Amino acid sequence: MTERQILVFTDLDGTLLDHHSYDHDAALPALERLREAEIPVILNSSKTRPEMEAIKACIDNRDPFIVENGAAAIIPAGNLRKDAELVIAFCAPLDEVNEQLLALREAGFPFRSFNDMSVAEVAQATGLDEASAANAKRRIGTMPLQWQGDDRQLEAMRSRLRAVGMQLLKGGRFYHAMGQYDKADAMAYLIKRYQSCQPDREVVTIALGDSHNDRRMLETADYPVIIKGVNSDKLHVAGALRSEGYGPVGWNECIQSLLNQLLE
Ligand SMILES: [Mg+2]
Repeated sequence: MTERQILVFTDLDGTLLDHHSYDHDAALPALERLREAEIPVILNSSKTRPEMEAIKACIDNRDPFIVENGAAAIIPAGNLRKDAELVIAFCAPLDEVNEQLLALREAGFPFRSFNDMSVAEVAQATGLDEASAANAKRRIGTMPLQWQGDDRQLEAMRSRLRAVGMQLLKGGRFYHAMGQYDKADAMAYLIKRYQSCQPDREVVTIALGDSHNDRRMLETADYPVIIKGVNSDKLHVAGALRSEGYGPVGWNECIQSLLNQLLE
């Protein structure tokens, strides 16, 4: 039998982390089991690199990770036979996104982006502490925004962005103005890297998410998991396992159940 390399790709907010408290404790037993089985846990979130590095330190995770909805994949030194860190960017520079947003604001589209908010305002809008909110403002390619107009204006703004090669992607709390890539593109890239490093092993992927911006990531996985939460009822992916518990409780439950099946 071919040996398997299982990879776990996971969203953070509302998935590994509780939507309200950002707590992950309920997922610790499954995280420990993954560590023992040497299965990489690849964080794949709309969060920024410094936000994700703080979370990685907290759960002692040294695996590759994907920031800002697929804007870049980061392979820390010591992974995938790399002695030095590797950053692979899939995004247009943030300046270009900001330039387009400025033009749309001048054209009368009503929204409030992280550029318009102080650290304290980001903290209030997200429920993050001020240090995490400051990290959330340190972005490379995507700009979160709160929409303040109606659906008709939203559709018009979407088509204006599409016309210049960008998009408005809906996440758990915000819309994200960004280029035409998403979490699945960086995920597919990392799967290829793992496969080419281990040509004799079959790469098997699990992906967990709770929102619309996770849909393509889930569709790319062999074992998609929809974590129950405020947005998950509207998310449909063929063949997906649905958690009973919310956030990290559901994460723990589904990983344990899949490992029972895959590691037997
Ligand atoms: Mg989420």
